[in-house]
Amino acid sequence: MSSDSPNLDSLFPDAAGAVIADVLIPLALDIAYSYKVPPGLTVQPGDVVHVPLAARETIGVVWETRTGAAASNLKAVIAKADAPPLGSKLREFVDWVARYTLAPRGLVLRMTLRSPEIERNERIAMGVRLVGAPPARLTPARQRVLAILGDGLLRAKRDLCDEAGVSAAVIDGLIDEGTLLPEPMPQAPVAPVPDPDFTKTIFSEAQSKAVDELLTSLRQEQSSTTLLEGVTGSGKTEVYFEAVAETLRKGRQSLILMPEIALTGQFLDRFEKRFGVRPAEWHSGVSGRRREKIFSALASGEAKVIAGARSALFLPYADLGLIIVDEEHETAYKQEDGVHYHARDMAVVRGRLENAPVILASATPSIESRVNAKAGRYTHVKLPERHGGRAMPEIATIDLRADPPSKGRFLSPRLIGEIRETIARGEQTLLYLNRRGYAPLTLCRHCGHRFQCPNCTTWLVEHRFRRALMCHHCGHVERRPETCPSCSAEESLAACGPGVERLQEEVAEQFPEARALVLSSDMPGGIERLRREIEAVATGEFNIVIGTQLVAKGHHFPYLSLVGVVDADLGLTSGDPRAAERTFQMLGQVTGRAGRGHTAGRALLQSYDPDHPVIRALVSGDAERFYREETAQREAASMPPFGRLAALIISANERQPAESHARALARTAEPPPGVMVLGPAEAPIAVIRGRHRFRILVKTDRSVPIQTYLREWIARAPKPTGNIRVSIDIDPQSFY
Ligand code: ADP
Ligand code: ZN
Repeated sequence: MSSDSPNLDSLFPDAAGAVIADVLIPLALDIAYSYKVPPGLTVQPGDVVHVPLAARETIGVVWETRTGAAASNLKAVIAKADAPPLGSKLREFVDWVARYTLAPRGLVLRMTLRSPEIERNERIAMGVRLVGAPPARLTPARQRVLAILGDGLLRAKRDLCDEAGVSAAVIDGLIDEGTLLPEPMPQAPVAPVPDPDFTKTIFSEAQSKAVDELLTSLRQEQSSTTLLEGVTGSGKTEVYFEAVAETLRKGRQSLILMPEIALTGQFLDRFEKRFGVRPAEWHSGVSGRRREKIFSALASGEAKVIAGARSALFLPYADLGLIIVDEEHETAYKQEDGVHYHARDMAVVRGRLENAPVILASATPSIESRVNAKAGRYTHVKLPERHGGRAMPEIATIDLRADPPSKGRFLSPRLIGEIRETIARGEQTLLYLNRRGYAPLTLCRHCGHRFQCPNCTTWLVEHRFRRALMCHHCGHVERRPETCPSCSAEESLAACGPGVERLQEEVAEQFPEARALVLSSDMPGGIERLRREIEAVATGEFNIVIGTQLVAKGHHFPYLSLVGVVDADLGLTSGDPRAAERTFQMLGQVTGRAGRGHTAGRALLQSYDPDHPVIRALVSGDAERFYREETAQREAASMPPFGRLAALIISANERQPAESHARALARTAEPPPGVMVLGPAEAPIAVIRGRHRFRILVKTDRSVPIQTYLREWIARAPKPTGNIRVSIDIDPQSFY
């Protein structure tokens, strides 16, 4: 239509046969927008399309199509995008997650789409091959290169430099002379197909029974959830690999979710041993180009097994036949920003929608999963013993009241003695302390000044290695001064409490001959270095490993025979309703690193409160009793999973508007029977990143649909204005 013709469309709606597409846009929007589908274009639900939005163009996904009377001011779909469509089950999943978490559907949708910020110009590694006659001038360096390439094979330039001991210039020179031909190196295939029968594992009787039970639920060809509970070292991985093999034989896809996928080099090796190739990996460390390829290979069904972080749950699988959630109790599965979802719980949902069995594996399952198993909602498969006749580590306490470390030190004489003996036997010790840095608090001995974060109500943590004071909540960094900023006293600053770096100092003093290593996520060198270091620990290169929670997870260190928990009381004193459970799980995992090789393992827990039920449960090895008591307490208090929780965090740049909005919200809560609204109260960490925070906790009976209540409440409540934000967290896992 030319622009000067009169626009009569608004007088006459289009004929009733117009096709309208409701398109969900990956932004913080909950509703799908309607667009006309222009003649000549056919779209179906799930298609990714370009659409106009305000003054710009964006992509969205067709959620529904219908024919009807289109208002003539409806904008039109521009075109289909070059992207695999979203299947109906994945769309259903998006709707489900949004309904459950109360996140806008568009934000959930965004997690399923290919990230737009793909680095398209990533370097492709170049190789060279011998093609021409040797050059006139034949230096020794050139001779070495030619000797290596004599077999006519293609070699990566970088490897060739290393092997021949020459600089890249030597190779470039040979290319210029026409002796060598550059050629791009073939890319490793993103998703070679694993062979379910590459090797055959010989299982113990208990393991065979567990495998049979898993395969039985798999063969039922319907959704089911199984809790695979087996003590550390019992062979859970080997057992669930059989479920992966079975799924491969059916030609379907498996997803293995892992809490620390970036650090699981050992897992990938084991997978390769079992199946001949590595699985595809999905986590933040995978490059953009590779992510794009994996994304397509999953959508086409070509990729069969993926090992991924929680975000892998939202990928477009062509035919998902199995989901495994390894270390299902891990808190890393809860996403705390954007869409607040728990990947373990959403995995169960996705499994149900896809008709795919779900296996939750852990040595120390969450109370939630235990209760579900007890109630018969989940199948419970157990592996009560370590593989190969290995014993569980013997666990004992060191009562710090009776056997204290010397002043300013953190290792008790008894633990020091045990480490000495372990070194003498040529075995490894792991010292566990879940505190990064050197010291959690720095104060002036003269005036009492404490270093606090300017953006948060937290103490700054000293990192001596970086010569800095850092905030672990907002990332603020400042130099540690020489004099007190408050009273100018010199040499008056004292480090209070231990971090792993400080422990390393003490270890160096006590055991000057020992090779010690700190494993912590914030040491320079990133993930690659950590992977290498974990590998080195596994080959027995270090006598003493000092680590944060990162070392507790799933690693297999065959030389490790002693685990020393420096502060077993650390997690028990927090206000978190799951403090006991968390500590039990964490210490169960850490102590479970001991004695997985050929020597027996033992663990020593340093504590000022060795009679605490959690510590007693660890020492007695009576996990059943711990679960029974903890579950009973939860039930008595109607805490999850016997009741439901939601947290509302109201934040603002100033304290006053945050507080008054929180109060205004609470005034409109109108809780019906079975619902309790607690607060508002200032959050335990009152300020984070300069935002003042108030919390409201909603606690309901299990039978109350908490989302419906919250949705209705938020709809009638005053809307936040200015920079006030309200974030809702269903099933909160953190309480600060
Ligand atoms: P978990 O995951 O329960 O801690 P793993 O699956 O890591 O246990 O097994 C612990 C160790 O025992 C691993 O080195 C594993 O390869 C080995 N293992 C377990 N089961 C078998 C088996 N049936 N045959 C050979 N090795 C096994
Ligand atoms: Zn801060």
